[in-house]
This record gives sequence, C-alpha cells and structure tokens, in this order.
Amino acid sequence: MAQLYDRVALIGLGLIAGSLFYAMKRAGLAGVVVGYARSAETRDVAREIGLCDRVVDSAAEAVEGADLVILCVPVGAMGAVAAEIAPHLKQGALVSDVGSTKGAVIEAVAPHLPEGVHFIPAHPLAGTEQSGPRSGFAELFDNRWCLLTPLEGTDPEVLERYKELWRQMGSNVDEMDAPHHDLVLAVTSHTPHLIAYTMVGVADDLGRVTDSEVVQYSAAGFRDFTRIAASDPTMWRDVFLANKDATLEILGRFTEELFALQRAIRTGDGEQLHDYFTRTRAIRRGIIEAGQDTDAPNFGRNAK
Ligand code: NAP
Repeated sequence: MAQLYDRVALIGLGLIAGSLFYAMKRAGLAGVVVGYARSAETRDVAREIGLCDRVVDSAAEAVEGADLVILCVPVGAMGAVAAEIAPHLKQGALVSDVGSTKGAVIEAVAPHLPEGVHFIPAHPLAGTEQSGPRSGFAELFDNRWCLLTPLEGTDPEVLERYKELWRQMGSNVDEMDAPHHDLVLAVTSHTPHLIAYTMVGVADDLGRVTDSEVVQYSAAGFRDFTRIAASDPTMWRDVFLANKDATLEILGRFTEELFALQRAIRTGDGEQLHDYFTRTRAIRRGIIEAGQDTDAPNFGRNAK
C-alpha cells in the first residue's frame, strides 16, 4: 500500500495513539512516526516496546517537520497541547485529533492553529476499557467507523488523503457536523457510560451492605456494566464536561423513560414492558446486521 504521509507526529501515547501507530505500520502508510507523551514514564515505556519510530522529549520537537499531527490526549487537554505545538507546525501540515467530543475540541484547538495549517477533527468509534502505552493494537479500527467533522472551507484534497489514511487503517469513514456528532455520541456512547458508572456505583454501595455478594455472584448484566465502568476516569471526566449539553439532553429523555418503566412495574403493566423490550431487542439485531458486533451468545464469551 502507498505511503500517504512522510512524517507523522502522535501527541499522547495511549490506547488510540498506539493503535494508530501499529495500524499505520501494518499498511505502510507513514514514513516516520514520531511520538511524544507528557510523562517520562510513558515515553520510557514507548521506547522500550517500540511504540513509534522515535520518541522525543517535547511536543515541539515531535511536530517539527511533520506532515500530519494527531492529538491523542484527553479532550480537556487538547487546547493546551494545540497552543504548545502551534509555533512549531510546518506550513501545509494537517492537524487532527481523535477526541470523543468534537464541538469543544474544535473550540479549544482551532484558534491556536496558524494560517496555512489544516485542521480536520476526527473521532474513531473504536476503543476498549484499557488505556496507556501498552494497550494499543493494529486491529482496533478494523471495520469500525471513523467520524470526521471538517470545518467549512476544508481543502478537499487534504480531506480525501486523510480519509484514505483511515480507510487504509481498516475504518469506514463518514462525515458530519460537530453538533450532530456530539448528539449522536451522547446517545450511543456518553450516556450509556454514565449509566454504567452509576449502576456500578450503586452496586458498590450495596456490596458494602451485602458483604461483597455483588462481586461474588455478579451476573452477566452487571459484569458488562463493570467493563464499561472500568474505562479511563480522566478521559470520561473530560467527555462529560466537554459534551455537557447533549449529554444532559439525552439524560433528561432517559430519566423520563425510566420513570415510565418504573410506573409500568409498579402498576403491573406487563404489556408495556413486553412491548418495550421487544423494540429494544430489534436494535441489537440491527447492530449485528450492520456488522458492528457478533451474534454469538454473550458476545462469544464463555457464558459462565
Ligand atoms: P490513554 O490511553 O489514557 O492515553 C492518553 C494520553 O494522553 C497519555 O499518553 C497521557 O500522557 C496523555 N495525557 C493525559 N492527560 C494529559 C494532559 N493533561 N496533557 C497532555 N497529555 C495528557 O487515552 P486514549 O484512550 O488513547 O484516549 C485518547 C483520546 O482518544 C481521548 O481524547 C479520548 O476521548 C479519545 N478516544 C478514546 C477512545 C477509547 O475508548 N479509549 C475511543 C475513541 C476516542 P501520560 O501517559 O504521560 O500521562
């Protein structure tokens, strides 16, 4: 496959940056990939495991001469990182990010970028509950979506080349505007995470009462919540602070539905419960038909 960028800089060296590096290398898409993370500890691990062709000790050095710079830090840190690298960016370079929210990232990053530097925000809908420099892998983006939220006036050639990078890393690519992205993700990712965090918190309180029965006898439903609720606390704190309006909007709707189901249980309205669960089951079938999950029972895991 053809190399698309001579020199790429990854700022932040966690799950997503690691996966980007391995996926780019798998397909021969980048000449040299230079990496930087703020802590010496992460940089040392990256050097030890060969994450990036070269790991440097400053963001400024990482972006020097880079054709493509991808910001892979929590969304709340994007603005400060953009300010730090801005004076060192090459004319004609493309800056992108992989943040889970888009409106707030655009607001934080765009004002820092100099004339002659392109900016295309991106969000790969791919992740795990793992984080840190050892957690990345080349297949993370395979058959997953990457949503781009280009700003008005984006150079079509620069955009097409960047889309090609994601396709060659295994992703399907789509474009939408940032507010729409933030609302869709509030439904599909952000609110579900908040609900999982809450449910695990409730069980934890109960666990103290019932002497850890919650952990010992944890059934599949609860275990699935715990996987989501094990996601990186910094990343998710930033997601909720950055996507405040859309998350609150969806949480409001969620609360209304929850009250309706609560009432159905209280009044013994089995028909309402059955109809509701029939509708939600169809959503799962839709996800499987779209190739976005396995149809094996219990996600193919041992059902114990
Ligand atoms: P991660 O594994 O926790 O790695 C985060 C990296 O950012 C680390 O290298 C960390 O540096 C650095 N960092 C943390 N706080 C920073 C700060 N205040 N200033 C500068 N650097 C900082 O995270 P990740 O999962 O790769 O997530 C990176 C981005 O991808 C986030 O914006 C997230 O919203 C987005 N994203 C995540 C997922 C997912 O499921 N994980 C999916 C899609 C998109 P040190 O190691 O030196 O602390």
